[in-house]
Amino acid sequence: MQVKTQVEDLQNYLTDASNMPGGHAERLLVPETADEVAAVLREANEAGASVTISGARTGTVGGAVPFGGYVISLERLNKIKSIDRDAKSATVEPGVVLADLQKAVEAEGLYYPPDPTEWSCQIGGTVATNASGARSFKYGATREFVSALTVVLADGDVLRLRRGEVFANEGVVDLVTESGRSISAQVPTYKRPNVRKNVSGYFNETPLDAIDLFIGSEGTLGVITEIELRLVPKPEGFFSGVVFFEKHGDLLGFVDEVKAASSGNAHADTLSSEDRGNALTDVRASARVRASASLVEYFDDRALSFIREKFPETPEAMAGAVYFEQETTAETEDALFEAWNEMLERHFADIDRSWFTTTDADREKLRAFRHALPVAVNERVVRNKQKKIGTDMAVPDENFPGFLKYQKEMLDASGIDYVIFGHIGDCHLHANLLPKTDEEATRSRHIYGRFVAQTIMLGGCVSAEHGIGKLKSKYLYVAMGERYLNEMAELKKAFDPKGILGRGNMFDAKFV
Ligand SMILES: Cc1cc2nc3c(=O)[nH]c(=O)nc-3n(C[C@H](O)[C@H](O)[C@H](O)COP(=O)(O)OP(=O)(O)OC[C@H]3O[C@@H](n4cnc5c(N)ncnc54)[C@H](O)[C@@H]3O)c2cc1C
Repeated sequence: MQVKTQVEDLQNYLTDASNMPGGHAERLLVPETADEVAAVLREANEAGASVTISGARTGTVGGAVPFGGYVISLERLNKIKSIDRDAKSATVEPGVVLADLQKAVEAEGLYYPPDPTEWSCQIGGTVATNASGARSFKYGATREFVSALTVVLADGDVLRLRRGEVFANEGVVDLVTESGRSISAQVPTYKRPNVRKNVSGYFNETPLDAIDLFIGSEGTLGVITEIELRLVPKPEGFFSGVVFFEKHGDLLGFVDEVKAASSGNAHADTLSSEDRGNALTDVRASARVRASASLVEYFDDRALSFIREKFPETPEAMAGAVYFEQETTAETEDALFEAWNEMLERHFADIDRSWFTTTDADREKLRAFRHALPVAVNERVVRNKQKKIGTDMAVPDENFPGFLKYQKEMLDASGIDYVIFGHIGDCHLHANLLPKTDEEATRSRHIYGRFVAQTIMLGGCVSAEHGIGKLKSKYLYVAMGERYLNEMAELKKAFDPKGILGRGNMFDAKFV
């Protein structure tokens, strides 16, 4: 195991994609086995030293940023231990990079749907944050794909958790560690908002599978050292497009229809062979083989202007665009093209200037189009020499159009540069505010605060996918109040009595 204490060796481990300032640590440890992780934790626990768990540091909320103590980096625990084609599962160490896993499973004809945009993240980081992304519209977040976990607790003891084995009973989870120690943890009692995505606080849905407490726990309950993932068959084909709309109302109407069609989930891959046969001959084929998107992403007019810096062919004078993807098979392809075409015509999409593809090469180009936005935004941030302020809230479906209108009106009135984009299928958009001066930066923070207040009023959540980390803990406090933060701290204490792990993540260390 590498142990480093020199400032220059620690430098890269003191911040993450949030650029949160002030990170510092005494020691960096890079274990190569789970036993080494356990040994480090035993020592830290005895010394009462804080431990920050570091994945690939692509997190955007400072979760992996240390403020003193030890940093454990999982980069050397990076083996794909097995991929079982028949069982459709993979067992991996936490430091495996998402892009490497994607490639390895696709080579076996399998597919791992979670796609949190930034493929350099580690699987352990995605489990710790319950990462989601565009494809969560069809497949759900990382949680849906985690079958088993090995977790090393703060004192070095080990928990092995398998989905379906241990459930909370009357609000209490009872677990036994590898050394035979019993742990009894009280599950927090807050009611979860009625939104499609939410990573604000420990998961507590009823019935609660014990494994779900650890997924999305942001490095506060233990170090995840092994993960078994569920895989699905690789879709046979894809049909995807970036479609442009001159009128924003038409765009929203189109998204509503796509969501309604997709909610039936008449996915081509679940149709029986008899249905598939019918699909070829039956005039009702286009109704049977319904459009059912795997992702539905939004770009507002300002986002399109940013993307145009990288893709000059992006049409001018558009109110916005939608990027969608539809999985297909040879039998359903034609009926699906027809169904999408009808929807696009019904909602007055500018079909002639939109882009469509069924080939892998062009699909990569559309993916590049989507990625061009964060790149262009980051370039602007560097030029402005001011931090961007990014939102990550989600609200219930029925409140989404009003919330988007409220955001756009307030941002337009502010005169501050901004873009809005993201996972419209899940009623979850990111507004990036791009201040140019200190005065605009202060106003941007106030506007962010107003958006948080509005989200809470509308029954939404303060973080839908990036997590709370250190940067958003004050908003979780506002959303939940002291009682529920105390309940979360009590849960943490059951697994980490000295409160050494992920200090300051989700809630202030004073609660523990
Ligand atoms: C351009 C860009 C786009 C992004 N888009 C998305 C998106 O669409 N959806 C989305 O969900 N996220 C998105 N993210 C955020 C980020 O990629 C995810 O949060 C990712 O899951 C973090 O993984 P990581 O390995 O980088 O973890 P890190 O940033 O290193 O750590 C994140 C948290 O997990 C903890 N942690 C890490 N590894 C472990 C472990 N083995 N055991 C216990 N705790 C651990 C850390 O302590 C920290 O609290 C984006 C980030 C960027 C930069």
